[in-house]
Amino acid sequence: MLKKQHMEEMFRLIRENSAKRVFVQVPEGLKTDIYAFAAFFAENGVDAIFSVEPCFGACDLRDRDAKLLGCDLLVHIGHADFGVKPDVKTIYYELRIDFDFTQIIEENKQALDRYKKIGLMTTVQFVHEAERIKAFLENMGKEVFLGKNKKSGYPAHVLGCDYTAVSEFIDDVDCLLYFGSGAFHPSGILIQKPILSVDMGSGRITDISENVRKLAIKRELSIEKARGMTNFAVYVSTKPGQMHTKAAMNAKRMLEEKGKHVVLISADMLTPEKLIGMKVDVIVNTACPRIREDAGLFGKIILNYEDVKRI
Ligand code: SF4
Repeated sequence: MLKKQHMEEMFRLIRENSAKRVFVQVPEGLKTDIYAFAAFFAENGVDAIFSVEPCFGACDLRDRDAKLLGCDLLVHIGHADFGVKPDVKTIYYELRIDFDFTQIIEENKQALDRYKKIGLMTTVQFVHEAERIKAFLENMGKEVFLGKNKKSGYPAHVLGCDYTAVSEFIDDVDCLLYFGSGAFHPSGILIQKPILSVDMGSGRITDISENVRKLAIKRELSIEKARGMTNFAVYVSTKPGQMHTKAAMNAKRMLEEKGKHVVLISADMLTPEKLIGMKVDVIVNTACPRIREDAGLFGKIILNYEDVKRI
């Protein structure tokens, strides 16, 4: 839930940009606050239009919609700048959350007994807590590894598709420690090291390595099954930060060389009903790599671009 302090911070940024009409992208979890948002915009004399299109990351910038609707500013809430070059002036309100994870670590410290060298990772909401956690763990006698995300420059910051903040030290640590909420971000990384999660929701430290291992096995089985299939659809997204046309063309060429029937398909967001009527055996995803985890919803095999070489 958004606090008044968050709204005020956001408005300071909006005023600095002298915007009269703004287009607002609200993450799924904050749509419950949309009326409070609207009231705050109205009180501040700014016209706001809220995008209700699903938004899972800053790769999914709705700058074209903002332009079409005559907005002079796009406000993207909940994610850090992903490097997309927008058509409309854009501000990213990252929505930092102050939360003392050290209390959870203190109460569950036996979960870390086996590990001496610990690498940290989190989402943008908590990157400012990284140094405090590092110091706390060092006081417990741990050796702590803190890297920077190559896109955002923030410490310990990982995305479901970007683990540059941990990749440099991954071979040197005994485990990775994620602090935040949920398991989406930490479970995208495929490593042979334990992954533990300091979860603000449950107040516990949980070992999520088994979930990650199961995902890895599922991916291997998908590649194995796809080798025997014929009809492939290579998906290229029209979301600006997920649009990898060159990769899609390459995938098509590589699959055709293996004798597969291939069509290139495009959608803003791929959903199962968009494929009704098509006899697709395998979807090759060149957009958000986490789409692969939705194979069950599609009832089809989903591979990512890098898997194509192994077909
Ligand atoms: S591509 Fe996927 S994982 Fe990466 S930022 Fe976008 S939504 Fe998140």
